[in-house]
Amino acid sequence: MRVAIVGSGPSGCYAAGHVLKARPDAEVDLLERLPTPWGLVRGGVAPDHPKIKSVTRVYEKTAADPRLRFFGNVEVGRDVTHEELASWYDAVVYAVGTAGARPLAIPGEDLAGSHSATEFVGWYNGHPDHRDLEVDLRRADRVVVIGNGNVAIDVARMLCLSRDELAGTDIADHALDVLSAGTVREVVVLGRRGPEQAAFTTPELLELGELDGVDVIVDPGELELADDLRETGLDAAAQRRTEVLHEYAARPPRGAAKRIVLRFCAAPVRLVGGSHVEGVEVVRNTLRRGADGRIGAVATDQVETIDAGLVLAAVGYTGRPLAGLPFDAHRGRLPHDGHGRILAADGRPLAGAYVAGWIKRGPSGVIGTNKKCAQETVDALLADAEAGRLAPPAADAPRHAEAVQALLRERVGALVTYAGWEAIDARERDAGAAQGRPRIKLSRRRELLQAAGV
Ligand code: NAP
Repeated sequence: MRVAIVGSGPSGCYAAGHVLKARPDAEVDLLERLPTPWGLVRGGVAPDHPKIKSVTRVYEKTAADPRLRFFGNVEVGRDVTHEELASWYDAVVYAVGTAGARPLAIPGEDLAGSHSATEFVGWYNGHPDHRDLEVDLRRADRVVVIGNGNVAIDVARMLCLSRDELAGTDIADHALDVLSAGTVREVVVLGRRGPEQAAFTTPELLELGELDGVDVIVDPGELELADDLRETGLDAAAQRRTEVLHEYAARPPRGAAKRIVLRFCAAPVRLVGGSHVEGVEVVRNTLRRGADGRIGAVATDQVETIDAGLVLAAVGYTGRPLAGLPFDAHRGRLPHDGHGRILAADGRPLAGAYVAGWIKRGPSGVIGTNKKCAQETVDALLADAEAGRLAPPAADAPRHAEAVQALLRERVGALVTYAGWEAIDARERDAGAAQGRPRIKLSRRRELLQAAGV
């Protein structure tokens, strides 16, 4: 059985591992748009979270299986079509993530100095797509981060780390220079609903309180909740999160050089400024329970302007359509049957086409969540194989990985195999060792391809 997996982030790697483990006769070709594997583990996880990144050891083990091939620098839809993959392989699994930023959809969003956290995170992580983002912190005494998820917390923390703290990480060099030369004194994180609706998790919140040289400021008034507006069924972790917020609110500021201010019931309505952002107009919200029991936000008429030289919208990710595949534009995902079988427009499974990870269930959960998600998809694939629901590859299809490799190399020229990635990895680690850093990332496609020897 030959399976193509598109996307080499966590869900693609877990899907590959599960196919190889379950079917000793299976081969997996892992196709990746970038010259480098591991998706958000390389391009999304914050540089100061090396423990989270160490999950790549699991993926390296999967990649070491001789039945797996990595084909990097290949974009499905541009270099090879879904129709081709469907005819070359027994099954194709899409694990392409949700690379787009959800827009704020408010006036002023396009001003210089306003970026999505997706871009900003990609920029500090050396993602080639965001290498040239212009981040100007010279006039950014205060940064406003919009959103109350873990990405908002990541960027707030990254903005407050000192040069020494950043230099011990694998942050991209260009970002290290800009962040450590900046003048950020205050990061304001805006949650449009209340503290009990925050999407960030307790360990990430606790980490803010442990940062050197940073006061975490919470207005106790913004934590007050009427009894009928309390969430029912908050789990222990979420209850602890609320307690931590109260502890922060009670903590006297130490007069630290930097502050992270966590605001609640505060929603942006407009970014203000000439050509560059100068501030955010923020409306005060009140909470209201909807008919479905969900606590939502309703705007009041109280508006304030928070001056800021940089605004980052961390309001979630969205998927992008893939040529030749159906797409649920409303949810930003590939439509599927609940188990990962992609559904055609007529609601029937598209034979041999599957989806896993964020493009299947939306951008939620931690890295490990993708393991269960990918296994569910692969189990559906294996059940279909058992039941004879997979069409065999076309008679003229490349029948083995070498033939696919030759075909793809013909098309893209600079095809990056796993050996190519190992050469990039070694180059980055060696450069890092020379400076006492984990690695110095190469962040331009050209440099990456050169290091891969292609
Ligand atoms: P998220 O957890 O979905 O949070 C998005 C936040 O944006 C929510 O607070 C949401 O508020 C808010 N929001 C959405 N639209 C808004 C708008 N128009 N105006 C103001 N606020 C708006 O998304 P994320 O932070 O991008 O994280 C994605 C996933 O990655 C999450 O599962 C996260 O836990 C995970 N992650 C984990 C880590 C870690 O473990 N350290 C680090 C980074 C990311 P509402 O609730 O009101 O919609």
